[in-house]
Amino acid sequence: MILLNPKITDRSDETDEQCEGCLGFFDVRGLVPRPLKITVETTALNGEPVTTVYERGLARLIHHEIDHLDGMLYIARMSAWGTPIPRGGVSADRPGMGVLVSGSGMLAETPVGCR
Ligand SMILES: [Zn+2]
Repeated sequence: MILLNPKITDRSDETDEQCEGCLGFFDVRGLVPRPLKITVETTALNGEPVTTVYERGLARLIHHEIDHLDGMLYIARMSAWGTPIPRGGVSADRPGMGVLVSGSGMLAETPVGCR
């Protein structure tokens, strides 16, 4: 998929929160709220504007990539827990919780759901 000069022109009020990662820093994931539907204006090869509505997973993916063009990483959109977790990180002490571990020990816990 190629989007030329993409710009989000509308966002649904309805959102969901899903786990996201980024190829820019592949080893962590985070729960990110995003609108379930976005409207994106792009430019066709003939220079004409094109408006397309994207929903759910595709809306999330395109929103993520357009954020990059705006200099934003998904971490800036994370809610509540606010800390990315390693892929597959799970705490044995608290099932259902993931942990972010550094060389010095546990840094944070966050709900599992990011693999
Ligand atoms: Zn990314």
